[in-house]
Amino acid sequence: MIAVFVKKLTREEKDGITRSLGELRFSPFFLDTKAATLLVTEEKLPLEKLTGEKLVERVVETGTPYQLVHRAFRPEGTEFTVGRTEIGRENLTVIAGPCAVESEEQIFRTAEEVSRRGAHLLRGGAYKPRTSPYSFQGMGEKALALLARARELFDLPVVTEATSPENAAIVAQYADVVQIGARNMQNFELLKAVGKLGKPVLLKRGMSATVEDLLMAAEYILSLGNFRVILCERGIRSIERLTRNTLDLTAIPLIKELSHLPVIVDPSHGTGLREKVIPMARSAVACGADGVMVEVHPDPDRALSDGPQSLSFEGFRRLINELSVIGVLVGKELTRASKIPETYEQEKGVSQEDEVTVAFLGSAGSFSSQVARRAFGKNAHPLSSSHFREVFKSVSTGNADYGVVPLENTITGSIHANYDLLLEYSGIYVVGERFVRVSQHLGVFPGTRHENMQILFAHPQGFAQCGRFLENSEGVKVLNVGNTEEAARRAAEFGKGAGCISSEEAIIRHRLELLEEEIEDNPRNFTRFIILSRFFTPSPDDDKVSCFFTVANLPGSLFSVLKIFAEREVNLLKLESRPQPGKPWEYLFYVDWEGNLVEERFRLMVNELERSTSFFRVLGSFRNLWKKE
Ligand code: PEP
Ligand code: MN
Repeated sequence: MIAVFVKKLTREEKDGITRSLGELRFSPFFLDTKAATLLVTEEKLPLEKLTGEKLVERVVETGTPYQLVHRAFRPEGTEFTVGRTEIGRENLTVIAGPCAVESEEQIFRTAEEVSRRGAHLLRGGAYKPRTSPYSFQGMGEKALALLARARELFDLPVVTEATSPENAAIVAQYADVVQIGARNMQNFELLKAVGKLGKPVLLKRGMSATVEDLLMAAEYILSLGNFRVILCERGIRSIERLTRNTLDLTAIPLIKELSHLPVIVDPSHGTGLREKVIPMARSAVACGADGVMVEVHPDPDRALSDGPQSLSFEGFRRLINELSVIGVLVGKELTRASKIPETYEQEKGVSQEDEVTVAFLGSAGSFSSQVARRAFGKNAHPLSSSHFREVFKSVSTGNADYGVVPLENTITGSIHANYDLLLEYSGIYVVGERFVRVSQHLGVFPGTRHENMQILFAHPQGFAQCGRFLENSEGVKVLNVGNTEEAARRAAEFGKGAGCISSEEAIIRHRLELLEEEIEDNPRNFTRFIILSRFFTPSPDDDKVSCFFTVANLPGSLFSVLKIFAEREVNLLKLESRPQPGKPWEYLFYVDWEGNLVEERFRLMVNELERSTSFFRVLGSFRNLWKKE
């Protein structure tokens, strides 16, 4: 049981409670957090009798041996920041690096590569707990210094393992996250030591530990006031001999139900086999993990430890591509926004840590706001707008640093207004894209049933995507509103008899009842959003380019432009025609193609396109997040 007091208790108040509980043979455990004192016990206490109810803000009954790690203590889940990376909730975190730091060249090359490909944290062992005393034991403090240098050079926070209470203090001086390895999960002196250090902890499940053992081990760390703990499933011992361990993915939904802590999966130790790492990482994300930790080595076959399970750089690139696609399906965002372009930093003198303003349609709870938050993190300052033109205007005047607008939906097609605005606002570039799986839900004013619903609020896209549901809602008056969030707000204002088609987030925010989930006709319902900016720096890592062009109204003119792509073997991802504003029956083409604007062969192609069209404009280039290998 946890009692949360309304304030921090004084020594005398605590002594008083301890004395009265002592008479009843209870021994209370007190924990002071920043805001208040917590009293934690294994059993249920008759607390009201002891303190008077006014001192206690809330009581959490967990009914389990673990208390502070229990989900009931923080039903919304735990999220915290390491460096610039947010861990938990909607974020998908990738930790990558070698099993052990072996040399400066090895760790720097790996750090550079995994950072470029989108890892959020760098791993690398300095103190290695090896089964054999004759195996490589790690480079110790020398490795820690190299990791710290790699952090500065490649902008990656560092995770590394502490194997004893003594080296925990040294590790914490260098690392951003202290890892407790599987073999030490129940080394209680070590758990207490890292609990006191106050650094985030990555706690790996012991190879013979149950999920409850893992949660109890985490409880040690939380009980010392350190709530920044990431749990890690890394495989358990089973009868199977063809894999190094048996990766227990059931642990993920189980832990998600029982605990508020973020949980990641290590498919490298979980399988011991390089070619099994990517499929298991995909499965981990699909079943709800908050991230993965993988071993990556520049030359896996020559690694001093765990080479057979280490990914090559090429393997890591594939892993990132695949996880970005799966993340979208389960509502988790893999990559943070494209970094703030250099030109922007120079002009405004801002650093990457500064808050950015992001304009989008609707208010908090709309799909656009979800994209803005996932792409830019929770520190982004939201600027809600009432129509798309306002988003473009805010970006072009500098009121917003970025804008987020939808461009197309897999069921209802293109959102033409935004193509036209892209053409009109010539100083705005497309610097990124994001996909969102759109799930529509029926929210109702509490007490309302489907049968007695009188009025239903939704955005026209919501109605368009839920045709079958509407067929079963005869007699209900339907009302179009401007966005998803407004639908929920209007239903809440209307009162009994009102329903809305909206997002889960907006339904909960407006205290409506979530009556029917996923009512859309087709669950393969995705919207592609683009990210707009006034500044644009092409990068060789981009692999998708968007542009507009027009051609003369003559036989074969479109063919002659498409031929340029074909001859250079450049893949077209999308081609769409739009009527030219003010020129009836003349058309403009919007095209997305695979490539970038830095490599010479693409630059030459763009020159040729400019020569062969009557109008040509590059809208931007970015990384394609929906890429299939
Ligand atoms: C590691 O991550 O390098 C490691 C030793 O893992 P585990 O503790 O899970 O065996
Ligand atoms: Mn290893």
